[in-house]
Amino acid sequence: MAKERRDIETDDQWDVASLYPSLEAWKKDFSELTKDKSEKECWPHIGTYQGKIGEDSAKLTSLLNDTLDIERRLYKLYTYAHLRHDEDVANETYKEAYDRISLLYYDFQNETSWVQPEILQLPEKILESYLKDAKLSDHHIYLEKLSALKPHTLSADKEHLLSLAGKALQAPQKAFGVFNNADLKFGKIANEKGEEIELTHGSYGLYLQSKDRTLRKNAVLGLHRRFQEFENTVSEMLNGQVQRDIFESKARHYSSSLHAALTPHQIDTEVYHNLISTVRKNLPSLHRYVSLRKKILGYEKLHFYDLYVSLIPKYEKHYSYLEGVELVLDAVRTLGDEYHQVLEKGLGEERWVDRYENARKRSGAYSSGCYDSIPYILLNYQGTLRDVMTLAHEAGHSVHSYYSNKNQPFQYSNYPIFVAEVASTFNEELLFRHLMDKATTAEERCYLLNQKIDDIRATLFRQTQFAEFELTIHTLAEKGVPLTAATLKEVYRKLNEDYYGPDLTIDPEIEVEFLRIPHFYTSFYVYQYATGISAANALVEKLMKEGDKARVDYLKFLSSGSSKYPVELLKIAGVNMRESSPIQTLIDRFNQLVNQFDKEFLSCR
Ligand SMILES: [Zn+2]
Repeated sequence: MAKERRDIETDDQWDVASLYPSLEAWKKDFSELTKDKSEKECWPHIGTYQGKIGEDSAKLTSLLNDTLDIERRLYKLYTYAHLRHDEDVANETYKEAYDRISLLYYDFQNETSWVQPEILQLPEKILESYLKDAKLSDHHIYLEKLSALKPHTLSADKEHLLSLAGKALQAPQKAFGVFNNADLKFGKIANEKGEEIELTHGSYGLYLQSKDRTLRKNAVLGLHRRFQEFENTVSEMLNGQVQRDIFESKARHYSSSLHAALTPHQIDTEVYHNLISTVRKNLPSLHRYVSLRKKILGYEKLHFYDLYVSLIPKYEKHYSYLEGVELVLDAVRTLGDEYHQVLEKGLGEERWVDRYENARKRSGAYSSGCYDSIPYILLNYQGTLRDVMTLAHEAGHSVHSYYSNKNQPFQYSNYPIFVAEVASTFNEELLFRHLMDKATTAEERCYLLNQKIDDIRATLFRQTQFAEFELTIHTLAEKGVPLTAATLKEVYRKLNEDYYGPDLTIDPEIEVEFLRIPHFYTSFYVYQYATGISAANALVEKLMKEGDKARVDYLKFLSSGSSKYPVELLKIAGVNMRESSPIQTLIDRFNQLVNQFDKEFLSCR
């Protein structure tokens, strides 16, 4: 049984009281923020700017300043309520606070939803003069990024029509969500002893790594068979999502749905194509690892359900939380004294971290916070190697937030999604190298290598396979090919064959794997996992080779928030994601780790 929240030591809890000393203080701030509330609006003065921002730059300046001020205070209120809520999700008091602030945030979004379209509707001449206006200098980057969308903005009445269609266009995503999370049940499956166990989304991931091959097989085939039963319906949902993307890209005059998905984030399509072509060129590296897996496991045929089980099943090591912290701190020493001290304080006396599980606490791990808070970390630390890696990962996010908050004004403090996973994966890589240096036995090294190799396989190769699948089916649909279940399965089967190579036996059930991937309803998103890990790895290599210069550039990147376009942000650190070299560097590293594993494995059987 997990402990009750009240029985957790203060040092093991995050310091939420540094944000507001009490719920009363929170409520007071909440009332203060909504003191002008009228019957119709929470912030009536925001609406008074509507239709007037083209008159002079002073009006736009004060509108933007006012909305930023509200937003900043909303984030602070939101952060407190969401952290308290996550400590015990059944606590009614904090659930209510969380619901209240979520609603208020929704009101804010509604009451300011006219701002961006109105800026984009400004006559070209006015927008250009605003871009040069000193009064608006604090908002220059925002306006510049926004004005890049001008060619894809329609007339006011057409924009209105599009916004009316918004809810209907969400139907495929919503339908998949409820089908997958609520309606679909997987029933029971048998393990090797013949015992029947419940198969759920939550247990699937665990069973996939189980040493019990019967259980793994039944979990994987059982789950996919359920999707097979509905393959026509779910294919139609996915088709609906693709058609929606195509509709929006055509309506907004983009050259393709990929172009439409990437342009608002200021990423060029070259980055996406480059990832796929570089990984494709190197697929023999993955094939080689698949055959090594097959050889080590000693199976006549290797199946998809054999891809996640540890190759070093007997090895286990436990790290106390403080041991974990020490390892992470030692690992980041190469980033210099300041980084080290910031993190040491954060994981220690400043209490960024909520360390352990308690009854009804939010599961998993994350880094979260706002401009006016410390960068909190939620963990459910148990002491496995994975947990120490997670600590390094979330610490990477949090120090990134720390530096960006410290060095950027509020409006540019939030770093974009495209770069978000770089700082976290960077720290995981540093920790991995540190653990490898410290490892004393071949068995420990093999264990670490196995985990790292599988990480790269899952993050680089698998996510690129998904990215290629998305691109292929969107391109087919754009050419007018109907996306039937048969067509989709054909595309996916071919990708499986290409990616995994001749040593993986692909069961017919795996042909429908694409039907169960929720990320396909956030189109063209997953490629960022692959580019993120590639960038992080390239930057660690650079740090090892170049030392101080690379270190300084990296810290500058961490301090840059969203003050530039994502690809430009990474260039500050010294990596160009338009080129193939960062991806190639990670694949070279993958090859080198597989070689080392192959060699060391002989001595740790
Ligand atoms: Zn992360």
